[in-house]
Amino acid sequence: MATSHPETHDAKSISLIGIPLDANASYRRGSAEAPQAIREALYSPSSNLWTEEGIDLGTGKVFHDAGDLALADDVEVAFAAIQTGVGWALDRGHPLLCLGGDHSVTYPTLQAFHARYPDLTILHFDAHPDLYDEFEGNRLSHACPFARILEERLARRLVQVGIRTMNRQQLLQANKFGVEVLTMRNLHRFSELSWEAPLFVSLDVDVLDPAFAPGVSHYEPGGMSVREILHCLQRLNVRVVGADLVEYNPTCDYRAQTAMVCAKLLKELAAAMIRGGHPCSSDWP
Ligand code: MN
Ligand code: MN
Repeated sequence: MATSHPETHDAKSISLIGIPLDANASYRRGSAEAPQAIREALYSPSSNLWTEEGIDLGTGKVFHDAGDLALADDVEVAFAAIQTGVGWALDRGHPLLCLGGDHSVTYPTLQAFHARYPDLTILHFDAHPDLYDEFEGNRLSHACPFARILEERLARRLVQVGIRTMNRQQLLQANKFGVEVLTMRNLHRFSELSWEAPLFVSLDVDVLDPAFAPGVSHYEPGGMSVREILHCLQRLNVRVVGADLVEYNPTCDYRAQTAMVCAKLLKELAAAMIRGGHPCSSDWP
């Protein structure tokens, strides 16, 4: 199935895949409906497919959409299918954008990435650290993926941004694994961070303030504005090889407000991938 090595990807193309699994949500299900809702918002005539720095994603040649994975509700079976499906999509040779799903899907996703990019850095946007060793008896819960990822050394560095629910148990985990945590109240320090390639961006939509993104399962006030996260994405001057957009829950949304936010984030993540480490174009307004 492998046709080309990811290192040689054509930077103008991006693979998309939907991972409609919400079986590991601890509070509300519904994020399995997200991939389709995000695609509808992306192609909605209410906006266009240009990124803010002037890249046209609507040529019909940029996105290679593999559709949604068919996933069983049995979590171990589903995780194996995610690992296989993400690996297959990565072997198309383009940067890969994954649409979740609850945040548990990031663990099997990173297993597939690690096999192809053994030196990944992860930039993780979230209200929550997701570092529990287990949550309500489930070690694969959406509250645990980064504990699994770090135990298996699937990344060399994890930087969490936007955190505002840290507790003692998770702080112990963060210290144990050497996680760099930029809490919401220290967000102004984002510009001091430096990055090394290849980068994976894991974006939990609840990093945004619920005022901007009500379509999430866990409302955690005091979060980022849409503008603030766009600012972070647009100043990434490092090669981004993969990303996931998780925890959007259409059943909690108002008139697809959050779906449009997800489409916006998807477009700007795609722009970061296409830039390939270069800064935003300066000859575009
Ligand atoms: Mn999360
Ligand atoms: Mn979260």
